[in-house]
Amino acid sequence: MKLILLGPPGAGKGTQAQQISKRRGLVQLSTGDMLRAATRAGTEIGLKAQALMDKGELVSDEVVVGIIAERIGQPDCKPGFILDGFPRTLQQAAALDRMLDDKGDRMDAVVELRADYNQLVERIVGRYACSKCGEGYHDRFKRPKVRGVCDVCGSTEFTRRADDNAETVTTRMMAYYRETSPLIGYYFCKGILHVVDGMAPIDEVSAAIEGVLAKLP
Ligand code: ADP
Ligand code: ADP
Ligand code: ZN
Repeated sequence: MKLILLGPPGAGKGTQAQQISKRRGLVQLSTGDMLRAATRAGTEIGLKAQALMDKGELVSDEVVVGIIAERIGQPDCKPGFILDGFPRTLQQAAALDRMLDDKGDRMDAVVELRADYNQLVERIVGRYACSKCGEGYHDRFKRPKVRGVCDVCGSTEFTRRADDNAETVTTRMMAYYRETSPLIGYYFCKGILHVVDGMAPIDEVSAAIEGVLAKLP
C-alpha cells in the first residue's frame, strides 16, 4: 500500500505514520527526518537545507524529489510506504506521479489530517522525540508512561527540533497555505483523497485512518 499523509505542521502526520508503520509493517518516509539526518551528517544538501528549515521555508523541489526518488527505489519500499511531509508542492506531486507512472504504479490513498490552526502552535512547541529511536512525544498530549523514559526503547535522552518554536510556526503555516494546501484539490480530483479529523485524540485519529485503509480496494 502506498499512502500519503497530508496536513499542516503539527497535524499529526509523523505520529500517525509511526503507528501505521508499526501496525502494517510499511516503511515511513519523512522528508523532514531525511533532511535533518543529512544536516547532522554535514552533507552539502543537509547544510543548504538547514538554513531554510531553520527559517521555516521549504527546501527546493529538486532536492526533495531527488531524495524520494532514490529512496522509493530501494527494496524495502517494494511492499509499500507511507509518505509523511512529501509532497509539499504541486511540482513535487507531479514528480511523484511520474516516478510511479514509469513503473506502472500509483498512490493508493491520501489521508488529509484536517487541523484547527489555533491549536497547532501548542502542538508544535510541545513536541519532542526520543534521541535514540525517534518515537514522538508531547509535553501535554503524549507523555512517556514513565517520566523521562522512552516507552519504546527505554532511552532517557530526548531532543526538540530547532524549528519548533512559535516564531517559525507562522512561516511554516504560510508555506502550507500557499504551497501545500492546493494538493488537497489535486488529490480530490484524482479520487484518492480521504479526510480525517486530526484534532481528535491520537488513538481516535489512528482508528479513523484504519477505517479508511480497511475500505481501500
Ligand atoms: P506533524 O508530523 O504533522 O508535524 P506530529 O505527528 O509530530 O505532527 O505531531 C505534533 C505534536 O503533536 C507531537 O508532539 C505529537 O505527539 C502531538 N500530537 C500528534 N497527534 C496528536 C493528537 N491527535 N492529539 C494531541 N496531540 C497530538
Ligand atoms: P512539519 O510537518 O512538522 O512542519 P517536517 O519535518 O515535515 O515538519 O519538515 C520540516 C522542514 O523540512 C520544513 O519546514 C521544510 O523546510 C523541510 N521539508 C520537509 N519536507 C519537505 C518537502 N517535501 N519539500 C520542501 N521542504 C521540505
Ligand atoms: Zn526511544
